[in-house]
Formats: sequence, structure tokens, C-alpha cells
Amino acid sequence: MRYISTRGQAPALSFEEVVLTGMASDGGLYVPETIPTLSTEDLEAMAGLSYAEIAFRVMKPFVGGEIDDATFRNLVEDAYSTFSHEAVVPLNQLSSNHFLLELFHGPTLAFKDVALQLLGRILDHFLAKRGERAVIMGATSGDTGSAAIEGCRHCDNLDIFILHPHKRVSEVQRRQMTSVLADNVFNIAIEGDFDDAQAMVKASFADQTFLNGTRLVAVNSINWARIMAQVVYYVASAVALGAPHREVSFSVPSANFGNVFAGYVAYRMGLPVKQFVVATNANDILHRTLADNDFSKQALKATLAPSMDIVVSSNFERLLFEAYDRDGDAVRDLLERFQHEPAVLAEAPLARLREKFVSHSVDDDTILEVIREAHGGTKELLDPHTATGYRAAERVRADASTPMITLATAHPAKFADAVLQAGFEGVPLPAHMADLLEREERYTVLPAELEAVQAFVAEQRR
Ligand SMILES: *Cc1c(COP(=O)(O)O)cnc(C)c1O
Repeated sequence: MRYISTRGQAPALSFEEVVLTGMASDGGLYVPETIPTLSTEDLEAMAGLSYAEIAFRVMKPFVGGEIDDATFRNLVEDAYSTFSHEAVVPLNQLSSNHFLLELFHGPTLAFKDVALQLLGRILDHFLAKRGERAVIMGATSGDTGSAAIEGCRHCDNLDIFILHPHKRVSEVQRRQMTSVLADNVFNIAIEGDFDDAQAMVKASFADQTFLNGTRLVAVNSINWARIMAQVVYYVASAVALGAPHREVSFSVPSANFGNVFAGYVAYRMGLPVKQFVVATNANDILHRTLADNDFSKQALKATLAPSMDIVVSSNFERLLFEAYDRDGDAVRDLLERFQHEPAVLAEAPLARLREKFVSHSVDDDTILEVIREAHGGTKELLDPHTATGYRAAERVRADASTPMITLATAHPAKFADAVLQAGFEGVPLPAHMADLLEREERYTVLPAELEAVQAFVAEQRR
């Protein structure tokens, strides 16, 4: 399997290269040259299989033989053995035709574990084979950092450095990162804000000379392997509800669009999906684009669903590439314009998107209302991100007869503030994390200076 860039000018790469590379050299994102298909028989044969077995079968064509089957099966089984529910991502029926896909049973209680548990293992496998080591650097305001750390803590060939803004992440989120005491995990608290941390990571990727030739790897959702791993739960949940013989719809709390794009890939592979509902919080660029053809940046708003607080949505580019019939020049042109000024999509591509995608934006007051309302009706306590998906599903679904699957992207205990504001007493952390607030922490406070951070990384890496 070869991978090509959405901007049409970077070289095509193999799966191994694409996992180790991140962003394409032309500024685009890598996508498979052809989207593999799942036949009716392939989908029928998945009924009743374990999540790991479905994962192996769905992902195998994307790996394209670059990891032998037995090894890949082991990596997948190992990755999903870290989840605390036997079904890995259980489906929970809320009402007559509305289901919650619980993606939060991994080590850090949010859906990013599904991809990052596997990505760490795939990276480690390729690095071992090549006899190389690599450094991961990332900036986080919450969810991604802890999921990346948990995904890499057992990797022999990786050192991971995660920057978070000092005293500006919640205690639960900080402790989920800083209580991992592995030798290859380095938490850096930056005396600055998230943008400072992010800028230093970007500058480090742009000029990697401080690492003397060691590879720097990105584990954000521009990495294709993350999308690939997320395709699986769309297939597994639809099969559980009767695919290929019954259509389903999905509602997805969205920010960088990696999650819902994975659903679109599942659809293109042959999964019968009626509709994708794109749910946003008040940071609504995706909703404005799909509903009003207003593809423009607006100032960041801090909301009760902080993991969806974004200005631009990086993976939307992958969908634009499909909407523009894989015309890399058109995508490059559109995104270059969008960098500097409000942009609009051409008519035909927008119409194509609207055939499958609808959207809805949910503000903070409504999030609180939905948490109360959903609990009243179903006894289910939703986290604030999932609440956006739940409301959007109820508001804009095409019909009530197609099963609707809302993706539950985080456990409510992780965002207890919103739950308290909605009028509930706190939510206890699950048993395996009950002692989180007593665990020993380790992190280094550094000034928001690029030289200081790079010197620390260069010196500490093993
Ligand atoms: C990251 C995240 C999202 C947004 O997912 P994207 O793939 O960026 O669209 C939604 N909810 C939670 C809890 C998250 O951590």
C-alpha cells in the first residue's frame, strides 16, 4: 500500500515511512493511494468476532504486508488488552434506536487511547527492525498528552517528551501524565501557555539539528496510523447492529476531524452508513463550513468541552481531498487561501460533502442542559464532549428508523467540572485509577524558551 499527500507534491511513501513521517513535505497529509474494500462477505464474517480480530482484519490492507500477520496480530491484541472492558468499546443502548459507543475504557479514559495504544507499539516495532531510536515531542492542553504517554511507556526504542502549560491543566489531566514514572517518559511543565508549548514543538520539528540526526516523530492525528486504528470501531459497532444488512448513522463530537474522518474511511471501504453527524462545541468551524460554506478562522473560545477547543481542524483537509476528487492542486490552493482569509468551498465538492455529513453546534449552556436531560431520560451520565454528540444526533438525524450511534469520547470522571456544574455530585474515577490523586508525580519545570527545552530533550533522551 502506497500513501500520497493531499497537496499532491510530496513523494508517495510506504506504510512504514508514513507512520514514521507525520506531515508530508508539501504541507499536506498522507492518505492511502487507494481505499481498500470490505465485501459483504467480509463484513458478514465479522459477526461475533473479538474486537482485536476485527481490528486485525480491517487494518491489514492498510499495513500492506509491511508487518507480518502474526506480529501484527500480537501488536493489536497487546494494545487492546490494556482496556478495562472485555468488549474494548462496548455499545450501550440509550433508547429505542440510539446507542452510545463507549470509547473511554482505555488507560486514560478518552477515545485517543484506541489509536495511541496501537501507534506506540507499531512505532516501536518498526524502530526495532531498523535498529533506530526516535524521540516523540508533543504539546498538550489535556487528553492527547496522557494518551500518548500511556501508548509509549513500554516502548524500548522511543523517548517521549510532553510539554504542558505549568499550572494550566486540570489536576486529573496533569496527574495522568506525571504519575507515569517510566524511564522513557519526560513531562515538561512550561512556564507559559499552551500556545508557547505548541510553538516550541513546531519549531523543533521544523529544525531538528538539536537532536543530531535522531528522528523526531509526531503522534498527533496527522499520523495516518491513528486514523487507521479508529476505522475499526465504526466497523465493529455497525456489525454488532446488523451490518452489512442494516444501515447505521454516527454522531461524532469533533475537533480536528480525525475521528469522524475515520468513519468516512469505513464508509468508503463499504460499510453501509446513512449519515455522519458532525457535532461541535462553540468552536464551530466545521459546522459553519458544512452548514453555511463559511470556511474561516475565528478566535478560540474556552468551553466546557476543552478537548474540542480548536481554531482550525487539521484532518478536514483529508475529507476536502476526497470532496475535490483527489485534486491536490485544488486542495493546496484552497488551504493556502484559508490561511490568510475567509474561504469558501466550490459548489460541487460542498454538495458531495452534504450528501453524507450534517452538523450541529452546541454551546456551554446547552451542554449542561443535555447532561441533565440525558441523565433524566436514560440514567446515563455523559461527559461534556459526548453531550455535544448526543444533542446533535437528536436534532439533525435524518430519520428515527436508522440506528444512531453516538461516540462517547470521554468518561465523565475526566471532566468532573462540567458534571458538577450540571448539578450532579462528583463522579468517582474508575477503580483502577481511584488512587490517582495520591500517586507520586515526576515533571520538570522549564522556562518558555526554545533553547532550554531543546537542551533538556537532547540531554535526557536515552
Ligand atoms: C480529541 C477529542 C475529541 C475530538 O476528536 P477529533 O478527532 O480531534 O475530532 C473529542 N472528544 C474528546 C474527549 C477528545 O479527547
